[in-house]
Amino acid sequence: MKLLTLKLSFKNMNSIELHNRKFNLFIDANSIQNAIDNVANDINRDYKDRNPVFLGVLNGSFLFTADVVRRFEGNCEVNFIRLASYQGTDSTGTIKEVMGLNENIKNRDVLILEDIVDSGNTLEYIIEVLRSHKPRSLKVATFLFKPKAYLKDIPVDYVGIEVGNEFLVGYGLDFDGHGRNLEDVYIIEE
Ligand code: 5GP
Ligand code: MG
Repeated sequence: MKLLTLKLSFKNMNSIELHNRKFNLFIDANSIQNAIDNVANDINRDYKDRNPVFLGVLNGSFLFTADVVRRFEGNCEVNFIRLASYQGTDSTGTIKEVMGLNENIKNRDVLILEDIVDSGNTLEYIIEVLRSHKPRSLKVATFLFKPKAYLKDIPVDYVGIEVGNEFLVGYGLDFDGHGRNLEDVYIIEE
């Protein structure tokens, strides 16, 4: 009983506060699940008999990955990668590395699962690294896409919901570490 109360109190609230900033309800959990139904239908149509490798990008895509792969109606493998950046000695000052790619993706049909694609910088980097492992095919599915912010030519093949440039939290997306566990997506109040 106590658990149920806690769960309900963290779902579908009109507004929330994280680290002293206010956020308002933007996409409710039902709309999120409907959007994922549509993405999963397209992925089933395209990948059902291809034994794909789904690669979730941590941390943000853990819920999206879970919701997509449990709708998948074929054999598949699921793995997670993480982009680590740390201070280095190259000219840009930071070095990026894709961690967790311990599975062989050579000649496999690989689908990257992202929480959000904004400028596309992260995606571009991940794709460059994955391509060097020679997958048979490499595509991208993202829960949220910010088309007005996107600076790249790389196609974003499967999109859950297109959004504006405002900062969002919930359903995997965080604000300074908090909010990933929210079942709805919230928009920051300026
Ligand atoms: P990029 O600009 O490289 O496409 O996106 C980089 C990262 O910025 C995303 O993976 C995500 O972590 C973060 N990001 C972009 N937009 C948002 C947003 O609206 N909310 C949150 N929480 N993170 C975002
Ligand atoms: Mg991300």
